[in-house]
Amino acid sequence: IRVLGIETSCDETAAAVVEDGRIPLSNVVASQVELHKKYGGVFPEVASRQHIRTIYAVVDEALQKSHLSLRDLDAVAVTRGPGLAGSLVVGMNTAKGIALAGNLPLIGVNHLEGHLYAAWVRRDEHDDHPEPQFPLVALLVSGGHTELILITDHLQYKRLGGTLDDAAGEAFDKVARLLGLPYPGGPAIQNAALRGNPDAFSFPRARLDGTWNFSFSGLKTAVLRVVREFEEKQQSLPVEDLAASFQAAVVDVLFAKTLQAARMFKAREILLAGGVSANLALRAAFTGQNEFRVHIPDLSLCTDNAVMIAAAGYYRWLHEQRDPLDLDVLPTWQLL
Ligand code: ATP
Ligand code: MG
Ligand code: FE
Repeated sequence: IRVLGIETSCDETAAAVVEDGRIPLSNVVASQVELHKKYGGVFPEVASRQHIRTIYAVVDEALQKSHLSLRDLDAVAVTRGPGLAGSLVVGMNTAKGIALAGNLPLIGVNHLEGHLYAAWVRRDEHDDHPEPQFPLVALLVSGGHTELILITDHLQYKRLGGTLDDAAGEAFDKVARLLGLPYPGGPAIQNAALRGNPDAFSFPRARLDGTWNFSFSGLKTAVLRVVREFEEKQQSLPVEDLAASFQAAVVDVLFAKTLQAARMFKAREILLAGGVSANLALRAAFTGQNEFRVHIPDLSLCTDNAVMIAAAGYYRWLHEQRDPLDLDVLPTWQLL
């Protein structure tokens, strides 16, 4: 079964073809990062207009690279939400047009379910990475979400907890700005941290014991306080040490709580997903333990892409989901 995936929820215009939910035949992502850099974040109207400009070329390229034509496809999966309304609509309308032209079923996919299914995708047909086994405890850490989820079977989720304030990726982005690092902040902090000492500053770790929740606002405030102290003393900011110490605090709480939850809910395995799962320190923490097998998406599939949408779409297809051609986008759609 070959599914064409389309993703335009935020600032990536993406299309991909995936076979049987696990083998990517193509993966095209046109990032708008450079366009939004000067705003220090995503500017919605600019994003939507740029999606319109690039979507056809992106879909075309995804088909070409897969060496398939519309006739060879079995379904079109598209991100229905959550995301920016004006951006989602571009992908949705494109998917509808293709579904109609190719007489293919349309499948609306939740963007967060897509992030989770990125962990099912193999690098290619030679990659023998095993399929995740249920029950799984999943840590979904992205720009807008930080969720701890128990997955009992395909498409069966139980939310254990999540952030009470900033998402993990949002914390990376905000602290990067405090440190004068460029947008997006995650990769910038990770790079600066390579040359820093993670023990230089002891930042707070909000354990929130007795719950499966997270909080990053206290950590952000603690970084801000140190930045102000240096400014007042007119000393230059130890950006690398601050980045390393901040990153270590985030990784500590994410890792500790996820492991705790996996034990408590008797998970067989752990799954990481979302943009922040690209973080090398976070990946190292999880791969450095032997208690649970860990599934983490390939680096190229952690941040927004359409392979993950096609992969989730395949499991929705198996589950017999077929959506009508007047399907609406859902900008605030909750998965859990
Ligand atoms: P959501 O998926 O919640 O709707 P989103 O789609 O904007 O939000 P993603 O694309 O999953 O989010 O991830 C982007 C986030 O991941 C940004 O906040 C970015 O800073 C963060 N990120 C990307 N790479 C890294 C990294 N190496 N280390 C830490 N954070 C990272
Ligand atoms: Mg993005
Ligand atoms: Fe995302």
